[in-house]
Amino acid sequence: MSRELFPILSGAEGRVKCGNTQPDPASGFDAEGKPFYIETFGCQMNVHDSEKVAGVLMARGYRPVQTPEDADIIFYNTCSIREKAAQKVFSRLGAFRKRGGGERKVFGVLGCVAQQEAENIFERAPHVSLVCGSASYPKLPELLEELEAGHKRVTGLGLDTEDCFETEMTRRDNRFRAYITIIEGCDKACSYCVVPVTRGAERSRPADKILAEALRLANEGFTEIQFLGQTVNSYRDPSPLRMSFAELLSRMAEVPGVRRVRFTTSHPRDFTKEIVDAIDSHPALCDQIHLPAQSGSNAVLKRMLRTYTREEYLEKIHYIRNAMRDISISTDIIVGFCNETLDDFEQTLSLLDEVGYDQVFSFKYSPRPRTAAGHYEDSVPEEEKGRRLLILQDKQREIQIKRNRGCLGQEYEVLVEGFHPKLGQAVGRTSSNRIINFPGEPSWVGSYMTAKVTASGPNSLVGQRVTEDAGGSAKEWKF
Ligand code: SF4
Repeated sequence: MSRELFPILSGAEGRVKCGNTQPDPASGFDAEGKPFYIETFGCQMNVHDSEKVAGVLMARGYRPVQTPEDADIIFYNTCSIREKAAQKVFSRLGAFRKRGGGERKVFGVLGCVAQQEAENIFERAPHVSLVCGSASYPKLPELLEELEAGHKRVTGLGLDTEDCFETEMTRRDNRFRAYITIIEGCDKACSYCVVPVTRGAERSRPADKILAEALRLANEGFTEIQFLGQTVNSYRDPSPLRMSFAELLSRMAEVPGVRRVRFTTSHPRDFTKEIVDAIDSHPALCDQIHLPAQSGSNAVLKRMLRTYTREEYLEKIHYIRNAMRDISISTDIIVGFCNETLDDFEQTLSLLDEVGYDQVFSFKYSPRPRTAAGHYEDSVPEEEKGRRLLILQDKQREIQIKRNRGCLGQEYEVLVEGFHPKLGQAVGRTSSNRIINFPGEPSWVGSYMTAKVTASGPNSLVGQRVTEDAGGSAKEWKF
């Protein structure tokens, strides 16, 4: 399965749009504007990886297009978190084959399914000629050149590359939020998860490089930075600065022009009170924490090899609830894991009550190849998994209705992230990751404003704009 499940957000599956990265004249290779298309499945890590892939290709003269039909090269950046996600890629590939027209195109499979299935993909989808895992993306132009030179099939499956962090050429799809990967891979070994296999061991990026990139991004006008990592808070600074994750967050919060800093995904075992203290001390650090529990039952947590108990998890929640700021908490839950009894499931339901989550990303367990749990008996029938999922989601819906009702009459700073033309509504996101829809203008997208909440639902809020806000400048800051 995954990096933690949280990143599977609606809208995370995307298409690469046109950008303005210029070809690199020093590369010595001219792709003559060959059109490419990338479809991304899965988490923010994958969305950001696609931005890096697009940037690397555009620097070599390739040109992004909006549809697979217009492309000579089609990439699927895949997710193997759940069986369904992996199947989707093969059905995309199959559909192209069936309807024809793909004979002269290059098909490439990138990401976790590529790393997991490796050369087997060529058996399953013979029209695929390129398979490349995330650590090898910098080599993509060379792999494409090999295909041009007549090779039939090429692979990039090494996990030992350090240059996966190099983001100079990244083509960013969002003009106010920028992702920065601060740690790659995972050293945990959750029994249901394939990430340690597909992304390799943990490698942290030096803090000085992260801060330099953040300053550059702020100077370019990005106001929100999101740190990414499968276990982002397991960050270990390899630079002489030796910053802890909490220190890195604090330094990030001081970068002029950066108004918001988020991070995902945290592992409960490495979650410290210092992180909460940093949030309390720095308004730019968003009052939002995603802390995947996966289950409320110690027996299940043990089989999942999550390395914490329910009690230890709740201790971390206690730090957050004791903060001066009202920090929203979200989580991931897997229902129907191997041998999950009704009593285990009840304990997960009681965890929802005890924590009072603001958001829960919940999924039915599906066994994945090359995981420890893949060898366990998948004992909970599919129908029962579905039943438990519905019960859990109904419960969480009630919790969210209550929690969002508590926002009525409150004023929040929002970053306007979108606009619904039909409704004439701006879509604002609070620091606590809540959505407030309010009457607005398309030109407001990217601005910070204050909105007052006038109505609430389980998943979003409705409001009115109160004030508009001015931004800061990143020009003078040094770290
Ligand atoms: S912590 Fe567990 S679930 Fe998260 S990426 Fe690592 S192995 Fe997967």
